[in-house]
Amino acid sequence: MPAAAGKNLPSPEIERLISASKKALAFSRPAYSGFRVGAAVEAADGRIFTGSNIENASLSLSVCAERVSLLKALSEGAADLKAIAIICASGETCYPCGSCRQMLLEFAPGIKVILPSKKSVKILAIEDLLPLPFIKKPPR
Ligand SMILES: [Zn+2]
Repeated sequence: MPAAAGKNLPSPEIERLISASKKALAFSRPAYSGFRVGAAVEAADGRIFTGSNIENASLSLSVCAERVSLLKALSEGAADLKAIAIICASGETCYPCGSCRQMLLEFAPGIKVILPSKKSVKILAIEDLLPLPFIKKPPR
């Protein structure tokens, strides 16, 4: 996968977004999996929206950190989302699940996905994470 998709993002912006995703880990509620995830989305206007995974006894109602941050941004009117950082408490690269990839591609096409781990920071385009996507244009 291409690792240079985020070349146009200056390093301080990436660091700021990763830092926000780390802070979001504190609010993770992984009651069943124990798998803590934090995410932070940056809008073109500079606002950052954080999210953490929140699990529910009815497991299918659980929501990933990525979607929490995305929906916070969308519900507060943020448009033109340019990057999302996703971090796991375990220090491994934390790739977004298929549902999150679909949501990110539909609501934030072109978004850069920043994946820090103990070893490196990968930066990928959402289109590379979800090739041949299901896309349906909403009715007018
Ligand atoms: Zn997900």
